[in-house]
Amino acid sequence: MSEVPRTHPRYASLMTREKLVEGVGRGITGLNGLIAQGRGEALDYLIGEVTTAPAMEAERAAAAMLLLAEGPVLSVNGNAAALVPKEMVALANKIGAPLEVNIFYRTEERVKKIADLLRGLGAGTVYGDEPDAQIPGLDHARAKAARGGIYDADVVFVPLEDGDRCEALVKMGKRVITVDLNPLSRTARTSTVTIVDNVVRALPNLISLVDEMAGQDEAELRRLLEGYDNRAVLRRSVEEMISHLTHQFSALDG
Ligand code: ATP
Repeated sequence: MSEVPRTHPRYASLMTREKLVEGVGRGITGLNGLIAQGRGEALDYLIGEVTTAPAMEAERAAAAMLLLAEGPVLSVNGNAAALVPKEMVALANKIGAPLEVNIFYRTEERVKKIADLLRGLGAGTVYGDEPDAQIPGLDHARAKAARGGIYDADVVFVPLEDGDRCEALVKMGKRVITVDLNPLSRTARTSTVTIVDNVVRALPNLISLVDEMAGQDEAELRRLLEGYDNRAVLRRSVEEMISHLTHQFSALDG
């Protein structure tokens, strides 16, 4: 990885880029992942590169949903594998969930590399390299899933998922939690809980929230989920962007 000085004002963002470029070099991230990250960065800029109040509310709902789930599964794509592999494994281990490698441009080699990376970081069960089921409504390569993994899960945590697959999972009756910096994407609008935050901030937040909320009783977690309104959270996320931009715009006159 090339040296980024810690004092650089854009240290966090530059490190994220470095990790993705390194992921491409190691054969775990696809080239298209770099384009997706670019789009994410632009949107992150619009929210001020912080976890907003609506994002925190979605993260709280996501933690409650994961704690209440009967068979949760965490899905890992090439970008998540480059940016937050340790955190994905830590979250999976905390809630006792398997991980499943699920990449958009599937090659068996890349799936295996990501699965090995996760296993090397202490993951328990990792699915994905031997898919034995098909998600209805998707083309063959994108439909691949594992029994015991995403195919059978009641709750799927799938950061950075594409709209079609997200829709297909919801149609199967699953509750889907995603992380997507675009509050207007199909994924964002289709998911049950959409976290409009950078995956590099969302994962550490989720791990702390799961720790904090694990002691709460089920009725309390259920009440939290019942009061959660994803549409309202998406609208407030857009408002956060508008307000941040308005603030930046006024600063131009100052
Ligand atoms: P959809 O199919 O849901 O409409 P899309 O085609 O707009 O999505 P994709 O190219 O499938 O988008 O995926 C990129 C998405 O991932 C973008 O919405 C982008 O904002 C988001 N994204 C990229 N990097 C990050 C990141 N680090 N953290 C959170 N979200 C990210």
